[in-house]
Amino acid sequence: MRDAIGYALQVAYRDAVRDDGKIPSPIQLRREIREWFYPRYDYARHHINPVCRASIAMLRSYRKNDGELRIPQVKKLAVRIDAELFKIFDNKIRVTLQPNHYVWIQINTANKRYEEYSRGKPSELLITDGKVCLTFIISDGKKPLGSKLIASDLNFSTIDSTKARVENGTVKLESINTEPIKKIAQIQNDFSRRRRMLQMRIRNPDKRIKKLRKTRGRQRNRIRDALHKLSTRMVRENQSASFVFEKLTGIRSDGSSRSKKLRTYLNRWPYRLYQSMVEYKSPNQTLYVNPGGTSSRCPVCGGRLEHPAWAMNRCETCGADYGRNRLSSLAILCRGMRLCGQPFAVSADASWRLMRDEYLYAHSLPEAVGAGWTETANAPNLNMYAKIHV
Ligand SMILES: [Zn+2]
Repeated sequence: MRDAIGYALQVAYRDAVRDDGKIPSPIQLRREIREWFYPRYDYARHHINPVCRASIAMLRSYRKNDGELRIPQVKKLAVRIDAELFKIFDNKIRVTLQPNHYVWIQINTANKRYEEYSRGKPSELLITDGKVCLTFIISDGKKPLGSKLIASDLNFSTIDSTKARVENGTVKLESINTEPIKKIAQIQNDFSRRRRMLQMRIRNPDKRIKKLRKTRGRQRNRIRDALHKLSTRMVRENQSASFVFEKLTGIRSDGSSRSKKLRTYLNRWPYRLYQSMVEYKSPNQTLYVNPGGTSSRCPVCGGRLEHPAWAMNRCETCGADYGRNRLSSLAILCRGMRLCGQPFAVSADASWRLMRDEYLYAHSLPEAVGAGWTETANAPNLNMYAKIHV
């Protein structure tokens, strides 16, 4: 197997040099070396997979550490075996060399964690000249529900989050936060401008495609990076909370102008990526609520919402103009609470009365303008101030 990895490394290295330093995927590599591998090794064909995976992993980590691409020396005698090729029977591992041809390895069950780990699903077997390592995937079951809920509305230039806890059977609003994410929008804009330029300037189609692909890869990496930082921070700041998001499967069909917004930016901002990052980093369960109508019904009183301006939601029943994104996060919170069996009557709640000003349109005005939305002619409803402050 050492020879096989050595050969695979050479092939992968040659590909990477030819392709501007882009290391091939293990699957690409398998396609290239299988004709070489199968007749040479008298093992079941599956054994080629760990060879490819190990070679690519080595190339990548060497480049990461040294800063340049080179062929690492394979010193250790080691073989990794996929889960398809071994099975455990009565504390013994059966490894498939060829179909119907096995070797058996006794497991040392004296290891103090063996009892606990062996309940997991076996994932990989590593055999070196010195030892045999067996790895398991431990399924930790469902994550628990947090003691708080934090509901986030994801927008083009902000993430608006309402946080609440349940106390003595009633819901208490805790805070509302608007997190600017202009950086992500900026990366998007930078790159689309650059791509347009490339499209115009480079005449040679092969060269253009190559260059465009490279730009797209870089853009994706930068956005992923920014999202990782953001999601890590959000989870760290809200350790005790369960996150609530809108389900983003497909485009909403309720015809609201909210769905128009998403349609415009759906391909331009990876909302879903952010959600899944938060979901796997958070120690608590993440909830997804149905997004339909979150911007057409007032979460406070259930009345109809009007949109006299892009970032504004006007509720005639409440007699108030709310900031659209913040109100939306409240609507998501209400749905999340209902999912948890905690219906939240916003209008009657004391914590809502304390927080209400935070949700008014005036507060979200600077962000709305800064985000570059074109406002329609309507000014904020001035009556609302009279109603609130009397
Ligand atoms: Zn209302």
